[in-house]
Amino acid sequence: MSSKMKISLAWQMMIGLALGVVVGAIVDSSLATTYLKPLGDLFIRLIRMVVVPLVIATIIAGSAGISDTSKLGRVAVKVLLIYAATTGIAVACGLFFAGIIQPGQGLDLSTEGLQAKNVVAPPLVQTLLDIVPINPMEAMAKGSMLQIIFFAVIFGFALSGLGERGKGVLKFFEVVGDVMIRMTHMVMVYAPIGVFGLMSYTVARHGLSVLLPLGALIVTAFIATVVFVVLVLIPMVRFVTGTPVMVFLKNIFEPWLVAFTTCSSAAALPANLSAARRLGATKAIASFSIPLGNTVNMNGTAIYMGVCSIFAAGVYGLPLTMGDQVTIVLMGVLAAVGTAGVPGAGLIMTTIVFTQVGIPLEAVALIAGVDRILDMIRTSINVVGDVASAVTVTKLEGDLGAEPYVEGE
Ligand code: ASP
Repeated sequence: MSSKMKISLAWQMMIGLALGVVVGAIVDSSLATTYLKPLGDLFIRLIRMVVVPLVIATIIAGSAGISDTSKLGRVAVKVLLIYAATTGIAVACGLFFAGIIQPGQGLDLSTEGLQAKNVVAPPLVQTLLDIVPINPMEAMAKGSMLQIIFFAVIFGFALSGLGERGKGVLKFFEVVGDVMIRMTHMVMVYAPIGVFGLMSYTVARHGLSVLLPLGALIVTAFIATVVFVVLVLIPMVRFVTGTPVMVFLKNIFEPWLVAFTTCSSAAALPANLSAARRLGATKAIASFSIPLGNTVNMNGTAIYMGVCSIFAAGVYGLPLTMGDQVTIVLMGVLAAVGTAGVPGAGLIMTTIVFTQVGIPLEAVALIAGVDRILDMIRTSINVVGDVASAVTVTKLEGDLGAEPYVEGE
């Protein structure tokens, strides 16, 4: 696909978004749910169809492709350290801004909180144990991303250890990854219509009157997210890799837009892989870190965990001690890591954090009312953080720009 077509696809998606807002403002919610939502759902289904094989193939090829095992270990450690550090800072950033703005103040919860009792927080130990699949095939069939990633990374490490004998299998997974990326490009032709469907449904469903009481929550999440990008991600890319800010922003535009409109990091994965490669990440590092980060590195979701905790505590008038805030950072990191790259996944994971610091889970229902908008904000940053990390690690390895990217590769 030529870069000219790519730009025009992004613009087509922008037009789909704008039309969606206009149509969503005109039609009523039930009409939008019946006729417009399926257009968006079809897009998400098409994308999700390719994601499991794409993640398996790219992670196996990525981790096994770094033939030098000490290099693989080094890359993995650097990637994971950057993910952990940025995610921890992100939760703290959310806590900080929500602490200043206090978005939960002055809200009357009396008519809300109806379905929160049905939300059950998974116990922490179980959440950790669940990362290890009992049966990798079952994990693939269910699309359990953390389990799939766990298996694929270990498979890749083992394959890499086989050396020459493993080359055929490595080649196989490389080709499968390329085929899945091609399939994704085919699916993306439908993206503008999908974006239109999703936007019109979202606007029709959350009219302005619903948004207003929760406006402060949205504004807080937005401010914390912008500050995080400006003070953490952009300086990391600018000062470590030397990439000009405008070049970085231009290249992340497409994955950002896919993430913003679909609320699914998984949907933005293929565009994110290309963005990292265009910005100079090597194929091996991009194929390892981008799919891994797609599920594990969720900076936007982490900010959201911090903001929502303060919001919910404010709504219920609960004071949060310093110890509580440290707990929120730790649990927020775990919750963000465990969040799947699909719409609304982060909302369910807030229960892990809320339970740990004693916030009533009724707050989840309140946040749910505007979660789609919060999801757009957080998902955008989830994918941008992955590209920023991939180029940073490539630079730290001294490989930035070593393998010029060929479009459609
Ligand atoms: N929707 C987010 C994503 O796909 C996950 C979340 O709900 O926080 O990255």
